[in-house]
Amino acid sequence: MSPHTDYIVAFDQGTTSSRCVVFDRDANIVSSAQEEIKRYFPHPGWVEQDATEIWSSQLGMYFKSLARSGITSADVAGIGVTNQRETTIVWNRHTGEPVYRAIVWQCRRGTPCIDRLIEEGYSDLVREKTGLMPDAYFSASKLRWILDNVPGAREGAEAGDVLFGTVDTWLIWQMTLGKVHATDYTNASRTMLLNIHTLQWDDELLELFDIPRAMLPDLKASDALFGLTEADVQARVPISGVLGDQQSALFAQCCFEKGDTKATYGTGCFVLVNTGDKPALSKNGLLTTIAYTSHRGQDGQGQECERHTGEQGSTVTQVTYALEGSVYSAGSTVQWLRDGLRIIRHVSEVEEMALSLEGNDGVYLVPAFNGLGAPHWNSEAQGVLTGLTQGTTPEHIARAALESTAFQVADVIHAMEEDMGDNIAELRVDGGMSKNDFLMQFQADVLEADVVRSEIVEATALGVAMCAGISVGFFSSQRDACALQRRTGDTFKPSQDVGKVAQLKEEWEHAITQSQV
Ligand code: ADP
Repeated sequence: MSPHTDYIVAFDQGTTSSRCVVFDRDANIVSSAQEEIKRYFPHPGWVEQDATEIWSSQLGMYFKSLARSGITSADVAGIGVTNQRETTIVWNRHTGEPVYRAIVWQCRRGTPCIDRLIEEGYSDLVREKTGLMPDAYFSASKLRWILDNVPGAREGAEAGDVLFGTVDTWLIWQMTLGKVHATDYTNASRTMLLNIHTLQWDDELLELFDIPRAMLPDLKASDALFGLTEADVQARVPISGVLGDQQSALFAQCCFEKGDTKATYGTGCFVLVNTGDKPALSKNGLLTTIAYTSHRGQDGQGQECERHTGEQGSTVTQVTYALEGSVYSAGSTVQWLRDGLRIIRHVSEVEEMALSLEGNDGVYLVPAFNGLGAPHWNSEAQGVLTGLTQGTTPEHIARAALESTAFQVADVIHAMEEDMGDNIAELRVDGGMSKNDFLMQFQADVLEADVVRSEIVEATALGVAMCAGISVGFFSSQRDACALQRRTGDTFKPSQDVGKVAQLKEEWEHAITQSQV
């Protein structure tokens, strides 16, 4: 690392926007730039993005964020890439042209492929090897759709002319002008093609989804040196960290020990718990995923479980797994109060409305607008509002909306506790909705655990910046990077009596039953 390089830049490529954040040596944000990107909905249930726009907007935001700090690439010690996961891109190796639009994680078009696989009895095999529930959400069925439907794609892939990548892989390929075709294990673990035990692309899965191996990227540890940027003449910057978006938030929250848990409250809410160096397969409908991998070990004290990943050639000395559960409707429920019911003008109003009541008076909302995710997994479940009386007011509905997020997160965490056979003592939180103090207090109450809100503004970007910074020696260790950013935040402690909490949970359970049609 050059002594003059004082910054780490995080590329944060999300579903709604491309964002770049510049961090200094104290892990403070120096500048950032963000631009929305378009989504296309060509059929009901289909969601696409323009892969070229993903790259051009990300590059544009890179230069904009540098300009805002008055720096150039020559001042950048390393670039970290974090991204929307599962989104599938296929392109021509020689021309760099995508053969089809990016198929976004939300897209359901792979459902028939997944249904077939389930009917043929492969669910257990997929679950055991990948840790994932067979679902169109993950990359494999999207990739299969492109190979089956885009003329020439399969032949090209078999000949090695057509490549596959998740968004990280696509951005790295572009940044290195096609020199590097690689992904990290956190992203690979969301494709449904990676064997999370052997850390290799799995031949049986490739055969099952009929995917030519030649089109798959090389696998690397999250803190590996992926390559040097070529797309900028000012300086060649090491791409030194890659993490999927939720794994990056887990890293930013310093969830490095087994049992450390974080929840990111945004449109949906993503909960991840570190389960240590062994994958814990869930009996309660949670996903098993790779939290991060390192080729250097944790502060030199990591598990010495040296693994060589076959022909991909990357060495991993530390692998950490996580259990993941997601709540589909969290902040989006509050948006529904604003845009659908129109009982608020601004999302921040819900807090005061909720606090204007002593309790929920038996009113419960189950926001199963797109079915229910973990641990209920019922795609047919419908939204319900129960316990209504003549006295029910918009305040009750606002309160029920916030409480519903806390109950759903608690359901996921209780499932995690059951799977791990251990209690989760503390939940670390971030995301736009975590600003809501009422919600955080209610979360602590129903969870019967501390909820710790750090001051991290950009957890997703920060995690990968820490990872990329450690990799180039900008930060000396995970602990060093953590010490910099774990500044004091707010802690919400459980304050309800046990009997009251039991009653709330029982009533919530009853509402859940009513939503399951
Ligand atoms: P995303 O990254 O998914 O776009 P953000 O982390 O930016 O989400 O959080 C935005 C979400 O948080 C929105 O869905 C919004 O409704 C919700 N939100 C923001 N502020 C509050 C608040 N004070 N109270 C409740 N919900 C909020």
